Amino acid sequence: MADKPLNIADAQVLIAGHCSILPAATTAVDEALGLVLAEQVTAGGDVPSRDNSAMDGFAARSGSASRTLTVIGESRAGHPAAVTVGDGEAVRISTGATMPEGADAVAPIEVVKENGESVTLLEELTAGRNVRLAGEDLRAGDEVLAAGRELGPAELGIAVAAGRAELSCTRRARVAVIATGDELREPGEALAPGELHDSNLTTLQALVRAAGAEVVLARHVGDDPTATSDAFAEALELADVVVCSGGVSVGPHDHVKGALLGLGVEEHFWRVALRPGRPTWFGSRDGTLVFGLPGNPVSAMVTFLLFAAPALRALQGRPQQPTQTTALGESISRHPDRDECVRVRIEGDEAFATGPQGSHILSSMALADALVVIPRGEGLLAAGSVIELMSLQP
Ligand code: AMP
Ligand code: MG
Repeated sequence: MADKPLNIADAQVLIAGHCSILPAATTAVDEALGLVLAEQVTAGGDVPSRDNSAMDGFAARSGSASRTLTVIGESRAGHPAAVTVGDGEAVRISTGATMPEGADAVAPIEVVKENGESVTLLEELTAGRNVRLAGEDLRAGDEVLAAGRELGPAELGIAVAAGRAELSCTRRARVAVIATGDELREPGEALAPGELHDSNLTTLQALVRAAGAEVVLARHVGDDPTATSDAFAEALELADVVVCSGGVSVGPHDHVKGALLGLGVEEHFWRVALRPGRPTWFGSRDGTLVFGLPGNPVSAMVTFLLFAAPALRALQGRPQQPTQTTALGESISRHPDRDECVRVRIEGDEAFATGPQGSHILSSMALADALVVIPRGEGLLAAGSVIELMSLQP
């Protein structure tokens, strides 16, 4: 492959060319948050299904104030009254309970005087007052959600209201995450000199889940060619997307590229003109995408957000994040030949670097609201310059 590092946008276009939408699967509504609908949802019936009360009070016939009405029954939520309301009669009713036959209005508790078995209306009762009509929200057969809609909490709720327990959705991408490095220890483990905690395996899994995808394998492997190859072989069997961190450079202990090529994964690019994240590798085998991300924790996050996240969106049928811009609140020096992703906090509508920007400095990532892309060039990019803003949400 060409040795010259790709531009970020060219790398993204190349990746997009290898993404096709995953098949649809029948999904329980409680499992469908964040997925994209692969069918149209129509209302199975009127919602609400019956005229019902908007208030706690008394259902009666509309008419003048000062009438005294005999209470002949009660309509509670889920327990309609089996009576018909005539002149001079009322039914005690709860919010959401079905309107009894004969009644066309509800007097709220606050506008009646209760006297044992009867109530006296303190106000005139106009027809339809405090009555919610059947079908006011949805009419049977109406389109409720169009195919392609992303399912958030409200969409899931309305699908249930429309009568659905399952939905046909583009299925979640299955992602395998592999962290490489002899120096890595599990969270909480004691460290010997030169060791560090494997933060990438946790962060990358969190990013995968935040992207709406499913982690099907999460594994640490040491810097050993056979172990690396075995882990990738398993990952390639299970996953739509394999994401790995570390071991992707050219040192004697970097085995990722060799292992992948040995397993028949075709390299599409290696190296992007980006800081942090230059040695990013991308390849595929039979439609399974493989992202070899650099090991430094900030590099791994930045390259996941720039390259793996858009791929997961495309596979899962989700639209890409809209491009946003912001103004720099301070001057930032440019890298001469790489575009730089700088961790920023947003104050008002300006972006300020969160602190030291080394690719190993996770603390300045944890303080960040977003990333900005500082285009390569000479000298400083002046305060006030308008630049691209990248969300930390994949
Ligand atoms: P590599 O890309 O393997 O050369 O790793 C670059 C740097 O990132 C090294 O200093 C590693 O210790 C660090 N690193 C690699 N993998 C991880 C990880 N999973 N968690 C935290 N740091 C890592
Ligand atoms: Mg390494």
